[in-house]
Amino acid sequence: MTDEPLAPGLYLVATPIGNLEDITLRALRVLRSADRIACEDTRHTRKLLDRYSIATPTISSHEHNEAERSGQLIAELKNGARIAVVSDAGTPGISDPGMVLAAAAIAAGIPVYPIPGASALLAALVASGLSTEQFSFVGFLPPKAGARRTALEDLAAGLSRPTTLVFYEAPHRIADTLADVEMIWGPDCRVVLARELTKLHEEFLRSTVQDVRNQLAARESIRGEMVLLLDAHPLSATAANPPSSLQAHLAKLEKSEDLTEKDALKRIARERGVSKSELWRELQRERARGK
Ligand code: SAM
Repeated sequence: MTDEPLAPGLYLVATPIGNLEDITLRALRVLRSADRIACEDTRHTRKLLDRYSIATPTISSHEHNEAERSGQLIAELKNGARIAVVSDAGTPGISDPGMVLAAAAIAAGIPVYPIPGASALLAALVASGLSTEQFSFVGFLPPKAGARRTALEDLAAGLSRPTTLVFYEAPHRIADTLADVEMIWGPDCRVVLARELTKLHEEFLRSTVQDVRNQLAARESIRGEMVLLLDAHPLSATAANPPSSLQAHLAKLEKSEDLTEKDALKRIARERGVSKSELWRELQRERARGK
């Protein structure tokens, strides 16, 4: 470990995702020597700082004030300050504040230093047993059912080779997300649910999506922080290229499954997680545009 004083600049410091031992010597030195630590939640970070007897002043910089706060911090950085940025857990900027400040610092010509360490995405990926050759980090899917389904369908349609998809997911949404995954990639698609990484109740469920759904359904409750990984393969040509318009989708269902327009609309509404009336309006708009 060097005793050299910290150079001026912005330091993006990774902190533990559960186990407080998961922090590097360099991260501790930077946190100790910085002029200030910009935290997502100062009270949360205080626990980590207390554990390592670090008394550096903190300032809050979270999702809601990052843009405004970055102006103030950039002014300090221009005057030669050494500012460390931490989020509540893991690597700042990964589904967490940090990106706005880093971009603003780069634009202002201020040195930006990564201080690598824990991130739930890599911890889950390397222990998942799924391929790490090509993976794609998606982060959180949209919370609303229809938008989530569309996002997953877009991901499926965009795959040209097998890819491990990595999602952050909340416990109260995981069952619905897995149901969507099964609908798109089928019941035998392999998934890994990595829960409570580095913590006392760390758990990996590695199986088919159908089996993982059954395992979760058998539990009284689903808790904890989790990463979902999916062994995603490109779908067959027809499935990977969904009909380009609602009218085409309707026509396909009417023909291939002998459904009436009403029943086909009902099916699509259910699949997309939107109301029939919403879909009906979309159909009218398409017809008006002559699509
Ligand atoms: N910046 C963090 C990182 O580098 O991993 C991620 C922050 S994001 C707001 C929080 C999400 O990360 C959680 O909802 C969960 O999906 C995932 N996560 C964080 N800690 C985790 C853990 N110990 N085990 C499993 N997933 C975790």
